Amino acid sequence: MSEEIPFSLDFFADFVYKVKMNKKTLHKISYGLYIVSSKKGEKFNGQIANTVFQVCSEPAVIAVCINKENLTHEFIKESNIYTISILSKDTPMKFIGLFGFRSGRELDKFKEVNYRVGVTGAPIVLDNSIGFIETEVMSSADVKTHTVFFGKMVDADILNDEEPMTYAYYHTVKKGKAPKTAPTYIKEESQEEVKKMGKYRCIVCGYIYDPEKGDPDSQIKPGTSFDELPDDWVCPVCGADKSQFEKE
Ligand code: FE
Repeated sequence: MSEEIPFSLDFFADFVYKVKMNKKTLHKISYGLYIVSSKKGEKFNGQIANTVFQVCSEPAVIAVCINKENLTHEFIKESNIYTISILSKDTPMKFIGLFGFRSGRELDKFKEVNYRVGVTGAPIVLDNSIGFIETEVMSSADVKTHTVFFGKMVDADILNDEEPMTYAYYHTVKKGKAPKTAPTYIKEESQEEVKKMGKYRCIVCGYIYDPEKGDPDSQIKPGTSFDELPDDWVCPVCGADKSQFEKE
């Protein structure tokens, strides 16, 4: 695990990165959106991941990249198993928020969803899923903030014929954000957001409530101002209440 990059080279690379590189290019890489689940003893946990990809076919090995700070990381390390649920294009933001912006250390996500226990003993999320893959970890790679796990596929099935969610669709159509622990997180440059009257930003996850769009997943019609939102309305991405929003 030694890293022999001299400081000067590292500094230079960092400098070039900040000055010349267009970080938005990374958004041109296509991904899907998945729930990666695992277990530790009797406990289940899962999280949203976009970095899920098949690396070889004989045997079928599926890699996932998981932040070391996440509870799912701890569970995979412990049990050496993980399942992948492939999310459909119609997955509501609130559901993505439950698995993407809430920690299993604070709530049992599996109390909120339909799932079944697979052949590995790990849970398979069924809600909004078009298919699933179960794996046993063969090896892993340490990539500083994250670990890439390589899992041998031991079971898989298609659940329905709906279209899979793509990360681009999540970003552009659903206006989804990456949490700070996601591999694809890019620090937002605030000047990029056009400041308009009436928009409110969730200080927890960065979601922006735009009255022009409303919140269709929660039956909030376009044209509803932030003040008109019901008191029990919550951020569709992370579940934070209205007091956690500030004007853009
Ligand atoms: Fe939020």
